[in-house]
Amino acid sequence: MIWLDFSMFLVLLGLFLYVFSSSSVTVLHRIYLLLHVVFMLWPLFQFASQTTAFVPYRLFYLSASYIVLSLLGIGWFSFILFLTGHYYVIRKSRLFLLSIPAFISITVVLWNPQGMFLSVNPMLEPLKQLQHGPLYWVMIIQLIMYISVSLIILLYKMKRRDDSIRHRKMVRTALNGVFVLTFFAVSDFFVNVIYIEHFTRYIPLVSIGMTVTAAYIVHAISRNKVFDIIQIVQRDVMNTMSMGIIVMDENDMIIEVNKVIKPIIRLRIGDFFKPEALASQFKKDTADQLRMFFEAQRVRPMERQEIELTINLAQSMHIIVQSAPIMNQKRRIVGRVLTFQDVTELRMLVEETNTQNELLHERNRELLIMQDELSQANKKLEHMAITDGLTGCFNRRYMMQQLESEVVTSLRQGVPFSIFIFDLDYFKTINDRYGHLIGDEVLCSTVEAVRSALRLTDVLARFGGEEFTVYLPQTNRDQADIIAELVKSTVEKNRVPTGNGDCTVAVTISMGVVSIERHDSTDLEDPKSFLRELIAQADAALYEAKYNGRNQIVNRKLA
Ligand code: GH3
Ligand code: MG
Ligand code: MG
Repeated sequence: MIWLDFSMFLVLLGLFLYVFSSSSVTVLHRIYLLLHVVFMLWPLFQFASQTTAFVPYRLFYLSASYIVLSLLGIGWFSFILFLTGHYYVIRKSRLFLLSIPAFISITVVLWNPQGMFLSVNPMLEPLKQLQHGPLYWVMIIQLIMYISVSLIILLYKMKRRDDSIRHRKMVRTALNGVFVLTFFAVSDFFVNVIYIEHFTRYIPLVSIGMTVTAAYIVHAISRNKVFDIIQIVQRDVMNTMSMGIIVMDENDMIIEVNKVIKPIIRLRIGDFFKPEALASQFKKDTADQLRMFFEAQRVRPMERQEIELTINLAQSMHIIVQSAPIMNQKRRIVGRVLTFQDVTELRMLVEETNTQNELLHERNRELLIMQDELSQANKKLEHMAITDGLTGCFNRRYMMQQLESEVVTSLRQGVPFSIFIFDLDYFKTINDRYGHLIGDEVLCSTVEAVRSALRLTDVLARFGGEEFTVYLPQTNRDQADIIAELVKSTVEKNRVPTGNGDCTVAVTISMGVVSIERHDSTDLEDPKSFLRELIAQADAALYEAKYNGRNQIVNRKLA
C-alpha cells in the first residue's frame, strides 16, 4: 500500500509541474517554484526514511532525498542566473553542460557501488546506522561548486550600481537566501555527518535551512513584489519606448531611467537630479528655456509642464520635454516623471506639409489668374464673333440671329417693329479719290453718326461692304420715318477729315425702310421665310431709293 501512496504523490507532483509550466508566470517564477519543489521534497523523503526500519526502504527514501539534494545546486544556480539577468547562459546546450555535475551526483546516488555513497547498517544504534562513503563527497563538492558560483555572480551584481532599486532588492534577497541555506547545510554536515557521535538525536538542519530560506524568499516576494510580472512588463515597456523617461522620488533622487536616456544624458540611479546640470549641457537659448521650464515646475509642482526645445546639433532636433507629478491616493506628490520625446520627424513632416500647402496655394492662385485670362479671352472671342472688326458694330450673322428671335417675339406679342437697310452713296469714288484708308475712316465715322441718331434699344449691324441694317424694336411706321430722317440728315452733316489739311469729305446714304404694324398668323408658321421676305422688301426699297437719285428714304409698309 505504501507504493500506492507514493504513486499518488508522484501523480500530484506531475500535476503541479504541469499546471505551473502551462500558466502565465514568468520564467523566473517557474525556476523559483522548481527550487521550491526541491526544498519540499528533501524533508519529505527524509521523513519517509525514518518511518521504516526496513533497510531497502530506508535506502530508497534516502537515495530519493539525495537525488533531490543533488538538484538543489543546479536549481539554485539557474535561479540566480535568471535573477541577475544572465538569461543567455541558459541555452539548451549550455544548460546541459552546466547540469553535468548534478547528473554525476545523481548517477553516484543511484549507482551507490558497494555502498560507497551510502549504506545502512541495522546492527548499529539507530543514529549511527547511516554510513556515508567516499562518493558522498561528489555530491557535496558539486553543491559547493554551484553555490559558490552563484555567490560570485550575486556579489558582482551587488557591486554594480546602475541597476534599479527593485533589481537590487531581488539580488539582496537571493544573497541572504544563499547565506541562510549555506549556514544550515554546513551545520548539518558537521552535526549529522562529521560529529554524529556527539549528538544523541538526528537534527534535520538542511530541512530547517531550506524551509527558512524558502520562507524568507516568499516573504521578500510578497513584500517587495520582486517577481511582480506587471513590474517586469512595465520595465520592458519603458525600455522599448522611443521616449526618454526619468523617474524621481519626492527628493529628486533618480529611481528609474530607461535605456533611451542613458546614451544622451549621463544619469545614474541613486543620483540626485540637478536641473542646472542638465541645462548647462546646452547652448544659451536652450539652457535658458530649460531653466524657465524647471523654475515653472518648482513654482507649480502640481501642474504638468511641457516645453518644446530646438537643439541645433549636426541637424536641427525638436524635443518635447514634459514634467508631471506622481501623486499617491491622498494627492500628495511622491515623485516626478520627466519625459523626452524626439518630434523632429513630426516637425519636419509638418514643415513639409506647410511648404506643399503653400505651393498648392500658389498653383491655385496661378490657376485662378489663368482662368480669369481664359474667360477674358473667351469674352473677347465671343465679342469678335458677333462684331465687325472695322466699325465695331454687330456683324451680319449676329443681326440675323437677333432678328430671328426678335421678329418671332414681336409678331407673337403684336408689337410693331421696323428695319432699315442703308448703303453709302458713291462710296467707290471716295475710295478712288482718297484711298481705302480714308474710305475706312469714312465708314467708321458714318457708323458713329448713325449710332448717335439711333436709340439705345436699336440694333445696328454691318450687312456687308458699305451696306448696313438697323433693327428698331417697338417702332411703328411713323416713328421709323422720323428716325430714318434723323439718321439720313445726321450722316449728311457729318464731315470726315481726309488727312489733306483741313479738307473734309461728307457722304450721303440711301435707305430702304420696312415697318410691320400688323401681321398674318401664317407669318408665325415660317418665321425664317417671313424674315427673308422682310429683308428682300427693305432691299427693294433701298434699290428704289438709289434708282430715284440717292440720298433719300423709301418706305415700304408690309401688310
Ligand atoms: P452706289 O452704292 O451709290 O451705287 O455707289 P457705290 O460707289 O457705293 O457702289 P458700290 O456699292 O458698287 O461700291 C461699293 C464700294 O465700297 C466697293 C468697295 O471697294 C467699297 N468697299 C466695300 N467695303 C469697303 C471697306 O471695308 N473699306 C473701304 N475703304 N471700301 C469698301
Ligand atoms: Mg454704295
Ligand atoms: Mg454697296
